[in-house]
Amino acid sequence: APAAALGGTTPDGLVGRAAQTHYRFPADRERLQAQYRAAGVLRDEEVCLQRVDGSPIWTLLSMVPIVYDGEAADLGTLIDITERKSMEEALRRLATTDALTGVANRGEFMRRLGVEIERAQRYGRPLSLMLTDLDHFKQINDRFGHAAGDEALRVFTAACMGMVRQQDLVGRLGGEEFGILMPETETGAALRLAERVRAKVEALAADRGEAGVGRMTASFGVATLAGEGDAAQALLARADAALYQAKRDGRNSVR
Ligand code: GH3
Ligand code: MG
Ligand code: MG
Repeated sequence: APAAALGGTTPDGLVGRAAQTHYRFPADRERLQAQYRAAGVLRDEEVCLQRVDGSPIWTLLSMVPIVYDGEAADLGTLIDITERKSMEEALRRLATTDALTGVANRGEFMRRLGVEIERAQRYGRPLSLMLTDLDHFKQINDRFGHAAGDEALRVFTAACMGMVRQQDLVGRLGGEEFGILMPETETGAALRLAERVRAKVEALAADRGEAGVGRMTASFGVATLAGEGDAAQALLARADAALYQAKRDGRNSVR
């Protein structure tokens, strides 16, 4: 009965339900069965089951062979760790996202940059990086206040998120500096995306008129991974140099 309750039903409700329907991922059952056959025991295996309504339950599953009523049987024990799992997930989200804008924070962005560079080099795939910094942002804060500045940062990131593809990663690298990591992207396509974001940001500010922070623009630097041995620091340095060229050339531009 407690196991049925864990699954959101009654012992009667379990009758006739195939065992694999209790697993979130059916392959887990096969893997654990094979492990049980090989080792003769399962100890605190973390597995995701599901209730009869399909909602996930994280459990620690143990299994030992016993003799029950003179017959060989298996005794399984389940410990519900769903709450611990969701706390872990909340902590992971806190540790990897920027609180103001909800995009990846600097640490997470750098970690993913390393992962993507390795992948691109292993498979010989293109990878581009865009760095962008809002123009004269200090003046926006000075004229409209820090809260309006914060809102402008949120509007800016929302615009970026609305334009990138699923596999791209947007991150906040510092105060008003952001990165967009673009796997599977050559220089030309990366420059086109940067140009579209630049135009969008310029138009956004105009749309909001007096209610917002007035004119807002950003400068962009784009760099593409240059084959084997090119490291994260080198890619970042090239994108940064391009960004500063855009600033020197009068801002609101892509280099
Ligand atoms: P530039 O065009 O050369 O980039 O000029 P800038 O004024 O944008 O550059 P600067 O680096 O001098 O100033 C950045 C400003 O961004 C200063 C800081 O007050 C502001 N800023 C940084 N983080 C935040 C934030 O979280 N919220 C708000 N409102 N402002 C921030
Ligand atoms: Mg700036
Ligand atoms: Mg800056």
